Amino acid sequence: MVIKAERGKIKREYLKQAGEIIRQGGLVAFPTETVYGLGGDALNPHSSEKIYEAKGRPSDNPLIVHICAMEDLEKIVKDVPEEAYRLAEAFWPGPLTMIFQKKDCVPAQTTGGLDTVAVRMPNHDLALEFIQASGGFIAAPSANRSGRPSPTMAEHVYEDLKGKIEMILDGGEVGIGLESTIVDMTVSPPVILRPGYINEQMLRQVLEQVEMDRGLLPDQGTLHPKAPGMKYRHYAPRAEMMLVEGKEKIAAEKIIELADQEEMQGKRVGIISCEEHKNWYLEHLKKESHPLEILKIAGSLKQEETIAHNLYRILREFDEEKAEVIFSEVFETPTMGTAIMNRLRKAAGQKIIKC
Ligand code: AMP
Ligand code: MG
Repeated sequence: MVIKAERGKIKREYLKQAGEIIRQGGLVAFPTETVYGLGGDALNPHSSEKIYEAKGRPSDNPLIVHICAMEDLEKIVKDVPEEAYRLAEAFWPGPLTMIFQKKDCVPAQTTGGLDTVAVRMPNHDLALEFIQASGGFIAAPSANRSGRPSPTMAEHVYEDLKGKIEMILDGGEVGIGLESTIVDMTVSPPVILRPGYINEQMLRQVLEQVEMDRGLLPDQGTLHPKAPGMKYRHYAPRAEMMLVEGKEKIAAEKIIELADQEEMQGKRVGIISCEEHKNWYLEHLKKESHPLEILKIAGSLKQEETIAHNLYRILREFDEEKAEVIFSEVFETPTMGTAIMNRLRKAAGQKIIKC
């Protein structure tokens, strides 16, 4: 059942119904400011098992517990360091997930067998109302089938999970479009396990020290990321994808050359460009006919949040348009560049062509 919000609000009776579904162990997808989540009761082991099943997600990949009130944090975690209160004060509700030692009430099924738990308070009215109506603790990974790009619209959730979950709360398109920043608070100094909208500099304004998980940095061959989910090739379109890195015009020329080669072999080719470079590709596509080349504009380098916002939708559109190979520019933008490139590199299975 898909319930549409009107002007950001869902009728009280539907929220109550959504809460009922959760209390009875069912699943409800809901919007947050990052991406759509697939929610179940975080304190019910069977609900978490159902989430893994609906997503087809490996069960060693833990779920994030979403809360709607600060006083609920201490009900599920053992020890909240003073730094975590400072981060919560600065960024909650918001796109920041923190990892703590879990209390016994949080089942191992929710945490993928770990004795730590990831917690976040989303900055989205509908999400907060839904969490409250459901008893306060919602385990929610992104509401996509495992391996597919995270959903930024209710339609994406429907595409991936129809028939597998009881309800979708449709709050329209999400704001940020990339998953939350994850910070491990069980170590000192805290470590960033997944980059997101809240970047290292923003965290440093609140904490004296914070480190980046070295397994996340490019070219770290043998090191594995510490967040179990970060090792999977997630966020991926069905097409083979490659990133082309080089000086702007040189990279664009390389992409055009590679796209033409693939097209000559009869393949449908996707190209991802930014607003600032699109004319180079358009001129090429105009000059000769290239019926198998599809150009999509991720957004503007000058407004980097547009790139984050559009990325997953574009990857899904390429699936619908049956792209077989995708070449993308790289977007090393100042604020969200680390998060955008982390997702893009994963979508491309780390395949990067340097020119
Ligand atoms: P998703 O909900 O799809 O955004 O994925 C949740 C992410 O949080 C995955 O990358 C998980 O590996 C990570 N995560 C959740 N709980 C923990 C934890 N206790 N320790 C480390 N990483 C975690
Ligand atoms: Mg996910």
